[in-house]
Amino acid sequence: MTVIVSVTGGKGGTGKSFVATNLAYYLSKNLPDKRLVLADLDVEAPNDHILLGVKRLEAEEDVDIFFPKIDYSKCTSCGACVKACDTGAIIMAGGRPPFVFPRLCSGCWACYYVCPYKAISSGGRRTLAKSYATPVELDGARFTLVTGILREGEEHTPPAIIRVKRRALGLEPDILLVDTGAGTGSGITVAIHYSVLIIAVTEPTPMGAHDLDAILQVADGLETPAWVVINRSGIGPEEILGEVIARHKSVERVYRIPYSRTVIESYVRGDPILHYKPSDPGATALRRVAGDLLEVVKSMLRRG
Ligand code: SF4
Ligand code: SF4
Repeated sequence: MTVIVSVTGGKGGTGKSFVATNLAYYLSKNLPDKRLVLADLDVEAPNDHILLGVKRLEAEEDVDIFFPKIDYSKCTSCGACVKACDTGAIIMAGGRPPFVFPRLCSGCWACYYVCPYKAISSGGRRTLAKSYATPVELDGARFTLVTGILREGEEHTPPAIIRVKRRALGLEPDILLVDTGAGTGSGITVAIHYSVLIIAVTEPTPMGAHDLDAILQVADGLETPAWVVINRSGIGPEEILGEVIARHKSVERVYRIPYSRTVIESYVRGDPILHYKPSDPGATALRRVAGDLLEVVKSMLRRG
């Protein structure tokens, strides 16, 4: 059994990766006999490796998806595939047979299944992203960082996220810590699916409150408990966050991490603050989250 915990939050730049990398460090250091994987599923702009000081990502693999290859000797130009494709990847213009735009294709297989003449082959593939599995060792913490990186110009994040997460789960970790991208779309939902806990990182700004509301709606819908981490606490009024938090049944706990220049220093050095300056007020506040999470994870692992 793998205990899955997701760090998310909606808005970009709230400090999700800061929280996720520190939690990975702390959990791994305190559970040395457990296998931990940190999955950076922010496939459009992954940065956990930078915050962990990883110089080079390792064990590269292609993330492939289905791509329709049309056998024009069988195709009757009936147009069924064009109608079935909801991304507009297949077009038929000027009475010509169908043509597929690779970048618009999400690899959903709909065209393959609707083609009445079996003109679309099941064997076509194209590479949507790359994934990596990099060992991380830091002062007694040992875990694997799985990273997904979408190819330039690609826009279909959910299929890439699903496959990178599958690779992370394929390593059979006891604990999978997921760091999602920004937003609350379908890519985020697939990233956090099957989590026992959602850690929603936000900040005291109107945009932070708006996106927290959206991600907590997802947590409510999935009936998954959520902890809210207010990062950079003190930089703005928090009443609006309080109103949002009060509206959602999924919220179990609320933490505050004060703004600290040392956090920025730890980013720049690529050294989690819990390791770099454990006495900093930001680190002390974050350690409360990490300590509570450690207890939850231990109890889940005991239960099996
Ligand atoms: S696989 Fe899906 S997205 Fe791609 S061309 Fe076929 S129907 Fe469109
Ligand atoms: S559904 Fe099949 S036969 Fe019809 S246009 Fe598409 S590929 Fe050709």
